[in-house]
Amino acid sequence: MTTPTVVPIPAFSDNYIWTLRDERHAVVVDPGDASPVQDYLRREGLKLAAILITHHHNDHTGGVAALKRAHDVPVYAPHDERIPEASRRVREGDTVELPAFGLKLEVLEVPGHTRTHVAYYGAGMLFCGDTLFACGCGRLFEGTPAQMRDSLAKLMALPDDTRVYCAHEYTLSNIAFARAVEPGNAALAEREARDRAAREAGRPTLPSTIGLEKATNPFLRTDEPAVAAAAAQFLQRTPASAVDVFAAIREWKNRF
Ligand code: ZN
Ligand code: FE
Repeated sequence: MTTPTVVPIPAFSDNYIWTLRDERHAVVVDPGDASPVQDYLRREGLKLAAILITHHHNDHTGGVAALKRAHDVPVYAPHDERIPEASRRVREGDTVELPAFGLKLEVLEVPGHTRTHVAYYGAGMLFCGDTLFACGCGRLFEGTPAQMRDSLAKLMALPDDTRVYCAHEYTLSNIAFARAVEPGNAALAEREARDRAAREAGRPTLPSTIGLEKATNPFLRTDEPAVAAAAAQFLQRTPASAVDVFAAIREWKNRF
């Protein structure tokens, strides 16, 4: 097995179309736009082998129809009729085989941002779409705080060195919010300096790791007394549970 390298193809203003590639093949995750993918394949002389979709939003699926027309490849996606281009439907526990790389990815259901959102995990890599962001999480368009918190807990249970490939470059604004929640978190201050330098040099802040997210992401830290205290301040009352803390932090971020 040759572990593929993973490169970001930038799309729109802040999306990354994560691309697994070796010398000959490429697999793309969430191609919201076909043309940057087509340009990349042509420039690098690569053959598209598969498309993976995490959720139905257009900035993740908008390029699928055109890519399918140009390349005869399987399209993996959750059971959701809002993704009509899918050719292989996946659910929790399914395995996506990528024979081009001799690689298997496991499917995790992570509802919250949307009700059918999935993530793909394998070989130390996590493609989590808009569920977990670097120092943040997706908005709750179709799920409850309890559901999203459970989904994030599932991702937190992965090994600390798992590389986290999120679909958006939201890191610096997420860190600004995280600093408001946990001003005393030293790991967060360090992260801010590092990620700010990366952006100033024109580099992505991603991938992150599960270990770094556990140390700095307020949405994964709702059991921390400092995060609970910040939530209490926002709510002007004592939160009733960790889910209540999570819901408060999410609502606060929406208004931040
Ligand atoms: Zn989305
Ligand atoms: Fe998105």
